[in-house]
Amino acid sequence: MSDKKTEPEPQNPRRNFIQKSILGASTFAGLSVASNAHASVENGVEDFEPEIINEVDILVVGSGSAGITAALQAGRAGAKTLLVERSFQLGGTTTTGGVAYPGLFDAWGKQVIAGIGWELIKESVELDGGKFPDFSKVPRSHHHNQIQINQFIFALLAEEKCREANVDIAYYEFPSKVTKTDKGWQVDCVGFGTKRRVLCKQIVDCTGGAEVVGMLGFERLREKERQPGSYLYQMGSSHNPASKQLHRLYVHGADSTNSRTATLANLTGRKTILEKVRRDKKRLMHLQPETGFRESYRIVGETLISVQDYTSGRHFDDAVSYAFYPVDLHTRTGVRPKPLKRGTVPTVPLRALIPKGSENIIVAGRCVSSDRLANSGLRVQAACMGMGQAAGATAALAAESNTTPLKVPLSKIHGLLQNHQAIIPSKA
Ligand SMILES: Cc1cc2nc3c(=O)[nH]c(=O)nc-3n(C[C@H](O)[C@H](O)[C@H](O)COP(=O)(O)OP(=O)(O)OC[C@H]3O[C@@H](n4cnc5c(N)ncnc54)[C@H](O)[C@@H]3O)c2cc1C
Repeated sequence: MSDKKTEPEPQNPRRNFIQKSILGASTFAGLSVASNAHASVENGVEDFEPEIINEVDILVVGSGSAGITAALQAGRAGAKTLLVERSFQLGGTTTTGGVAYPGLFDAWGKQVIAGIGWELIKESVELDGGKFPDFSKVPRSHHHNQIQINQFIFALLAEEKCREANVDIAYYEFPSKVTKTDKGWQVDCVGFGTKRRVLCKQIVDCTGGAEVVGMLGFERLREKERQPGSYLYQMGSSHNPASKQLHRLYVHGADSTNSRTATLANLTGRKTILEKVRRDKKRLMHLQPETGFRESYRIVGETLISVQDYTSGRHFDDAVSYAFYPVDLHTRTGVRPKPLKRGTVPTVPLRALIPKGSENIIVAGRCVSSDRLANSGLRVQAACMGMGQAAGATAALAAESNTTPLKVPLSKIHGLLQNHQAIIPSKA
């Protein structure tokens, strides 16, 4: 699929109106607003009387593989951190989607992604009595070095680690309005029975589809045609977590960008699975709570990782982590992964995590600034964890010195990451 089909996101006229109306204003909802402020009012929630007000350094939104590692890194670096997740548990696609086979932590015979993400995976495997691949061997197919984990253990350990790192968790909530303040952001979050106002210095958007970035009106990219989602389940034999991968049902057209289309994806997936149960006369032994979504919006960052950058293993000057996976684009007819050339290990630059022209917000995970083909490799969980840790470290350092992520010296980011066992890309 050519990247030329990439389209900028259609603009929301209501949001434009609100943004324009505050441009140049000195106050908005009682807060001072910089003249180039971005703000948004979503979901019609304008009269917001918060029941809870949290003042934190870092707000992480979304708790998939990227969000967990970002929050843990920020918390362990001493930043007061709140993790807001619209679902009911940590882990995102890994747990709620059931894709409990993260890859790839190794490349060409050695480990390239470690740190907080690896700690979580390693402990999940150990506690569950599982097995590790031998990273010193180059496998015949990349699948052999994916790590089978128990999704339930992973979610529990992630919560425990958040408790230990003083990361507060707010489930069933999502931002409804984001306003720039002179100290950072005011983020109004809603959940059922809850209205929470978060005052924070930095936002780390780990929502998978860069939802906060979108609310702020920064540019995002998404194709007209997206990779199918998959609904994971198990029929016939019993489900033994981490022993093998669940069955996968493609959900074509799956769209995670709003509750209506996400509902449709779930209804479609579940209906088809019920039909299969009737047709195949086998017992349904396991069903994930929702569809796993492969592709959504990506940010337009200060730089964009192209497929040429990815497949040539370009070493970006501001590289903060490695990524490793074949180019892996699923279509209606399936997927034919294109392995990277021997010795190639792509890197992720800090600037691909920073929305172009933004201040005090950084992203991590599959919404990284990249073209579609590069993204098909970058989106995997080990890479998301590497990016998450880098984004968490950068946000914590930015909050500490009251600056913006782009202005944090790279040496400080690398230093903090190394103190937390991350692997920093080095020039070959
Ligand atoms: C079927 C399938 C198979 C895959 N196979 C593999 C594989 O073999 N190996 C591999 O490593 N990777 C695989 N991947 C890719 C990988 O699992 C994902 O790309 C990766 O987990 C994405 O992590 P993330 O943290 O960026 O986003 P996600 O895991 O999507 O997490 C985003 C989180 O943000 C939350 N959220 C979203 N919006 C909001 C909001 N507005 N407010 C609050 N919370 C919000 C979501 O509920 C979710 O918990 C696969 C993906 C799918 C779907």
